[in-house]
Amino acid sequence: MRWFPLFLDLKGRKVVVVGGGTIAERKIDLFQSAGPAIAIFSPTVTPSLAARVAEGQFTWEARAFAESDVIGASVVVAATDDPDVNRRVADAATARGIPVNVVDDLELSTGILPAIVDRSPLVIAVSTEGSAPAFARYVRARIESAIDESFGDLASFLRRVRDRIKQRFPDLTQRRRFYAALLEGAVPDALRRRRPMEAEVAFERALMGSTASGGRVDLVGAGPGDPGLLTLNALRALQAADVVLHDRLVSAEVLALSRREAELIPVGKAAGFHSVPQDEINALLVEHARAGRRVVRLKGGDPFVFGRGGEEIEVLAAHGIAYRVVPGVTAAVACGAYAGIPLTHRDHARGVRLVTAHCQSALDAVDWASLARERDTLAIYMGVGSVQRVEAELLAHGQSPTTPVAFVENGTRADQRVIVGTLKGSAALAAEAAVKSPALLIIGAVAALAPTLSWFGDAPIQAVYPADANRLTA
Ligand code: SAH
Repeated sequence: MRWFPLFLDLKGRKVVVVGGGTIAERKIDLFQSAGPAIAIFSPTVTPSLAARVAEGQFTWEARAFAESDVIGASVVVAATDDPDVNRRVADAATARGIPVNVVDDLELSTGILPAIVDRSPLVIAVSTEGSAPAFARYVRARIESAIDESFGDLASFLRRVRDRIKQRFPDLTQRRRFYAALLEGAVPDALRRRRPMEAEVAFERALMGSTASGGRVDLVGAGPGDPGLLTLNALRALQAADVVLHDRLVSAEVLALSRREAELIPVGKAAGFHSVPQDEINALLVEHARAGRRVVRLKGGDPFVFGRGGEEIEVLAAHGIAYRVVPGVTAAVACGAYAGIPLTHRDHARGVRLVTAHCQSALDAVDWASLARERDTLAIYMGVGSVQRVEAELLAHGQSPTTPVAFVENGTRADQRVIVGTLKGSAALAAEAAVKSPALLIIGAVAALAPTLSWFGDAPIQAVYPADANRLTA
């Protein structure tokens, strides 16, 4: 290591920036969060820098650099596009023992500005010692995604309780053990859920020795299949998991993002497969959380959209088990996007209805008359066997036979298929095209846009049925 990382207290101290272009401005942004008095020396500055000077954010002297400008500075930055000026700035600073960073010139620099992850008071600085700043930014982005916003709160929390922990555990080994348990336990979890009071209580308990187990459940939406559609919170939960209880709809690529040591338990829910009954799933969740494990309950799409997520957290709440819900991209939203079907459109549909047509009882419960009446787009989450009934009911309740429909099979996955037709004939179309689960049925004028707006996977298959259907109803 040649460049030593060192955190400087710049509050109220002077930072001199020579140059007033966009690069200078970026460096200024970097420094500003540490609260120094920033002085710019440059004949010209960007309009936005000028505006910020007018607001009093920092000072600007509109003239060429003079050696004496560095006097009193804690740090100097040379960000001009003139190598001679940059060298004079570097010489002036170095002669006085002031660290100087010359943009894009490691030879002249005595300090490097790192890529920063700011979760103050937790701050992470990344440097490649100048060999590849772009790589440092890449690493920073990786760290950003692993370290969520609550880490800053956790750092503040620990600053506050540090002395008490030290008093309680004067022995270093004991103290280390306590910290290790604390950091995996209920305190960070409560802070992540923005429940600071709960964190206080958990901490007091831990300090008294009656540590709450730290077991908890993250009810996580895995999205429709494409792992790129996971949220950062979903990824973080997966990477912290001890146990992952997952539906069969969850794609292998998503599961692969779980922490390597995590135990993966499939609990079913795919038409035609044996699946674990809901009671047993509930019991498993409670059992694993009680044992102090970090449990991820991973569901396809969004856990609160036809996912029985509500029932599962009711059970957790009743057992006093901490939980969190991480939303996922639901099939309707994902399939619409990946099939080129805007679910709402000012010309075609003002709203969208999510409907489940999975089983007989679901089909019986649907208010077909209102669905047929509205001009909303219908997104039908369905067992493939239900199409016939959907078609018949909507037609019987007055929906136009020529209403466009689209089946989106395996939406967002490599093998996605989109099949476009009309309401009348849609069941025959599904049979003809051998549409398989999982598939979403989108009904409404917007479905007809798929052939034009398609951008992902194979182009939509357009059925011959529409023409026939139109003739039948003409
Ligand atoms: N909670 C899930 C829905 C569970 S119900 C969500 O929010 O998406 C299961 C139904 O969702 C499937 O029968 C199918 O209609 C739909 N579905 C889920 N993933 C899908 C995908 N990748 N492509 C098409 N439909 C999908």
